[in-house]
Amino acid sequence: MSTAQVAGVDVDTRHWIGGERVASAGTFTDISPIDEAPIGDVARGGPAEIDMAVRAASAAFAGWSGTPAAQRAEILHAIADGIDKRVEELSQVETADNGSLLRSHRRSVMPRVAHNFRFFADWLGHLDGQQPDIREHRQHVSWCPSGVTAVITPWNAPLMLATWRIAPALAVGNAVVAKPPELAPLTASLLADIAADAGLPAGVFNVVQGLGAEAGAALVAHPDVARVAFTGSAGTGRSVAAAAGAQLTPVSLELGGKSALLVFADADMDLAVANAVEQYDNAGQVCLAGTRLLVEQSVAAEFTQRLLGRIAALAQGDPREEATNVGPNISRAQVERIDGYVARSLRYGARLLAGGCVNRDLGGLYYRPTLLTNAPPGSEILTEEIFGPVLTLQTFDGEDEALGLANGTRYGLAAMVFTGNRDRAERVAARLVAGTVWVNCFFVRDLRAPFGGARQSGIGREGGSWSFDFYGDVKNTVYAPRGWHTDG
Ligand code: NAD
Repeated sequence: MSTAQVAGVDVDTRHWIGGERVASAGTFTDISPIDEAPIGDVARGGPAEIDMAVRAASAAFAGWSGTPAAQRAEILHAIADGIDKRVEELSQVETADNGSLLRSHRRSVMPRVAHNFRFFADWLGHLDGQQPDIREHRQHVSWCPSGVTAVITPWNAPLMLATWRIAPALAVGNAVVAKPPELAPLTASLLADIAADAGLPAGVFNVVQGLGAEAGAALVAHPDVARVAFTGSAGTGRSVAAAAGAQLTPVSLELGGKSALLVFADADMDLAVANAVEQYDNAGQVCLAGTRLLVEQSVAAEFTQRLLGRIAALAQGDPREEATNVGPNISRAQVERIDGYVARSLRYGARLLAGGCVNRDLGGLYYRPTLLTNAPPGSEILTEEIFGPVLTLQTFDGEDEALGLANGTRYGLAAMVFTGNRDRAERVAARLVAGTVWVNCFFVRDLRAPFGGARQSGIGREGGSWSFDFYGDVKNTVYAPRGWHTDG
């Protein structure tokens, strides 16, 4: 079988290499988290398919990198148009594949996927390479294509996270080999169709399906890969960085988080509670989620009571239903992992305020939105990424204690601060260890801004010019004021 039928959409489950569909001897079964039903058998690539794809990409790189930037941009715009036309199909397939809410896919995620292509197509043209002269010598910086880019991504937002790396790589003139997540591999295949229809030359974009330890590891270790863009867990990120480092291949790592959401007594309590409950979005499978609620002692009782009211009102259910707030988690293994963390925290002395088990009315993968308090300082539930609908609540007195708790993990992806005092907001934001700090808000994102994590949350920043600094080879050219014979 080389096709999966998902919500009426035919998806080719083979690789896409050099502009052709390629099968593998082996396959793996893709399962929908909505009902744990098999969706299809997907090609299981390994070193041979990766080598084929990297060769195809290397061969296509010469032509694509030499294509004028404006022409490349036109094709990226055509890809964006193709995504816009297929928003409904992409949304249905992504929801079946990873269990995220269909309404989010339709309204925000897939439009953002298209925007990734338009934004980076246009941004390249806005980079200004002029630098101050050196003693009358003119300096000019350019962002040159660097070669084949490996893009490896997780399942929690598969197409959005992949295209946020694929689009700038293609825009700068690189060729791409993508290894989609094995738990949600299908929309990458649809993207290959869309890119081909948009006129992207064969071999410029390739997809090799497969498992991380097989296809992913072979891709990162391939000697002809010029850049590795990896999004995933910190544990995998360490092995990816080690393999890439062995060949001095530059890596950009967007890894996990254990972000803090701080609520000071002077905060707008409605706003703080509304944002706290949003941390259950995507069933807690959001790298940026503020899963550690840190609340000033004097308002902790009120905050907790109001948050519990909001949790009780969350509608858990089928992610295709418009009214659903919280859908399933991705797999049995992930649910067991989440439940293990919760059960151990209770044994170590934490107190359960909400949830704490699977919602059996809905099947095996719907973990109830969970709130824990009184976890012992330094315990794993307070320091390790759970990646499920589990929040912890701790209290503090004053800014110093709040910052000590907030900065007390090995991660540094994001932080949220709720306060009515502007001076406090600036003081606290300045001392938080985080790639992004949101003050009185959450998830306000713009592609012009830098994105990435401190500490174990990643290496590097992407977004705007930062993306091109990574995918391109940045070159400074110095022109002497003399020695010219002709202007032509
Ligand atoms: P994961 O690390 O298990 O897998 C991510 C990808 O890496 C998958 O495609 C997988 O097949 C591949 N992979 C696995 N082992 C590999 C290896 N040895 N070599 C090369 N590739 C390999 O992560 P996951 O469970 O799919 O995703 C969840 C994680 O992703 C969480 O930690 C989450 O915080 C993180 N994440 C980070 C961001 C961010 O922008 N910082 C965004 C989304 C998710």
